[in-house]
Amino acid sequence: MSILGAGIFKGMAVTLKNFLGSYRSLGRSKHPLVTNQYSWKPNPDSPLPARANEYPDPDQPGDFKKPENTTVTNFSRNFPILLHDGGEPMDTIRCVACLICERECPPQCIYIEKDYDENGKYIKRPAVFDIDISVCMSCQICVEVCPFDAIVMDSQFELSSPDRFDGLLLRRDDLLKSNKYYHDIHPEEAKARDQKMADEKAAKEAKKKAAAEAAKKKAEEKAKAEVEARAQEEVEDKTEDAE
Ligand code: SF4
Ligand code: SF4
Repeated sequence: MSILGAGIFKGMAVTLKNFLGSYRSLGRSKHPLVTNQYSWKPNPDSPLPARANEYPDPDQPGDFKKPENTTVTNFSRNFPILLHDGGEPMDTIRCVACLICERECPPQCIYIEKDYDENGKYIKRPAVFDIDISVCMSCQICVEVCPFDAIVMDSQFELSSPDRFDGLLLRRDDLLKSNKYYHDIHPEEAKARDQKMADEKAAKEAKKKAAAEAAKKKAEEKAKAEVEARAQEEVEDKTEDAE
């Protein structure tokens, strides 16, 4: 039999347990709760987690381990990054500076400038791509609207900085990460995205091939019709001469 309001007391008990647990170890846990684990962060010698589910192991300094309690998973997201396909990042950057994400970003924290060559011709890449992460609300809309699979969400959460302005303004080169890195942090999502891109490329090539074949067939039919028309004209000319 459930008692009216029991859930409220149960919730308050959990809150009290977490509050006390943030100061000292409770129950079977050897360590205080997660909030106290953040004491490693200001230490410049302590490496930051490279990917989801890797945290410094308090028992083995320098090692990482998967914590028992975390909400950070392969599907976690923090701030966007720009993808490149390996090698020299600006040679394989996927972003073509179409400005769609800049236009659609709800808090307007993306700023892009297109790149041009010395003759003023547009090169399909950004000369400037800034994201102000003090404003970004991690909504992922930029990812959803990008037609080129060029922008995805990072799982790196430790980006705090005492510099309110430049420290929180991520520039193009800070944002550039390889597709391999993307596979490391979001393996399932990256695999699905690669598959989607491969399917789209195959469909595009099939469409192009079908269009080329249709054009070839049309040209052949036209040439055949012209030959037939010329032959008909010759027959008519000969008939007229005979008469
Ligand atoms: S995640 Fe949302 S708020 Fe952040 S840059 Fe993308 S669209 Fe803008
Ligand atoms: S990230 Fe995507 S949507 Fe944004 S400018 Fe680049 S190609 Fe366009």
